[in-house]
Amino acid sequence: MMHLQKNSRITAVCEDLTHDGLGVLKLDAFPIFAENALPGETVEAVITKAGKKFAFAKVTSILQPSPHRVPILDKKGTWTGTTPLQHLAYNQQLLFKQSLVQNVMRKIAHMPDVCVNPTIPAAHQTHYRNKAQIPVREVNGTLQTGFFRKNSHTLVEMDQFLIQEPIIDELVVFIRQLLQHYAISAYDEVHHTGCIRHIVIRRGHYTKQLQVILVTRTAHLPHADELVHRIIDAYPDVKSIVHNVHPLKNNVIMGETTQVLYGEDAICDTLLGRSFYMSSRSFYQVNTLQTEQLYRCAIEAAQLTGKEIVIDAYCGIGTIGICLADQAKHVYGVEIVEDAIYMAQHNAQINQLSNTTFVAGKAEDIMPQWIQEGIRPDVIIVDPPRKGLDRSFIEASTHVSPSRIVYISCNPATLARDLAIYHEKGYTVSTIQPVDMFPQTTHVECVALLVKA
Ligand code: SAH
Repeated sequence: MMHLQKNSRITAVCEDLTHDGLGVLKLDAFPIFAENALPGETVEAVITKAGKKFAFAKVTSILQPSPHRVPILDKKGTWTGTTPLQHLAYNQQLLFKQSLVQNVMRKIAHMPDVCVNPTIPAAHQTHYRNKAQIPVREVNGTLQTGFFRKNSHTLVEMDQFLIQEPIIDELVVFIRQLLQHYAISAYDEVHHTGCIRHIVIRRGHYTKQLQVILVTRTAHLPHADELVHRIIDAYPDVKSIVHNVHPLKNNVIMGETTQVLYGEDAICDTLLGRSFYMSSRSFYQVNTLQTEQLYRCAIEAAQLTGKEIVIDAYCGIGTIGICLADQAKHVYGVEIVEDAIYMAQHNAQINQLSNTTFVAGKAEDIMPQWIQEGIRPDVIIVDPPRKGLDRSFIEASTHVSPSRIVYISCNPATLARDLAIYHEKGYTVSTIQPVDMFPQTTHVECVALLVKA
């Protein structure tokens, strides 16, 4: 039994990395989790929290660094958890992600032999995000922007984020200064008072178009006209400014009502040469170049010849279905956000497609409905959120025996769980391809191909 006390100093060797990038220090086999420690390193640390089965510590010095350590470019990124792997060399980040997937395939799916390919690297390891969601809070009497310290709601003031497109960081600072200039109040989540909750910026990577979303607690946004004029004067690439009202006390970023202040509630971007309009409430992948890689992998896995009926489930604004529609007979897309479906329908039109159908609803409800209507997909592509697929979706999708199911996943744990269910239902996992969409973070995106056994 270990009797570690808070504030005690230890020297220990780091033996592993957790799935969220914490080093696992071991003292007589007792695990202690710490930021900024890599396997093989001997570190000095101070215990910050001591439990019976494990503890947490803060590294104070690294006595023997790992050969895979690289300099930390922005320590605030480590505190806030926006770049938890920034101290690990990039090629090692890729190996880490591949082994994360191998581990869950062994532990959760019980498929130790499944082929997990090497992670496809990102072209840009920093400044790749086309979207920022920046909390606004008052710090020492002044409205500030930044990010929350990990596991807390204390704002760390930050002007630059290593992983966002630099123009986005610059625009956030500009808007913050405007808000300060007009003395508009920041949201106070303890008392549920104040105005501005978040500044959200989205950018079309290829088109350079910018959308600004100002999220407020109050229905009224003071000085809205002045804000709009100052923003578009300074940043002509801003094509859309919207005011989103979020009066509720929760951690969701956007509320239900959106009012357009400038332009339309949409900007445009391209992916694989197709144009896509997106609105403030619809999902769009945050790393455009890697999304193209991801979609290429998914489309290749689908092995289309032009004759197939394809289902694009969890389709967002229709990006995947539209990118492959010229290689399929018909594409059916389903998505829960109605607004995203309007965009998908519009996107099919501007890309001159006449073989797509996009329906708003829950994938798990629409899938059985389509089967009842006699739709017989050859290929089903799914791209669910982190919680993975609903069992009823899996049942319905296997009921019609598609030859291939392409599973795009942003959460290896639920991917592994769902692949095991598909396996029970007569599908074999042919390959899993991790794609690095989020360098410097522990997130892994995968494309898994399931074939009818
Ligand atoms: N394939 C798209 C979107 C992927 S993100 C792209 O690559 O851009 C996952 C999407 O699933 C989101 O748009 C989300 O709104 C949607 N979604 C979440 N739960 C859903 C459900 N139960 N049924 C259908 N869509 C859902």
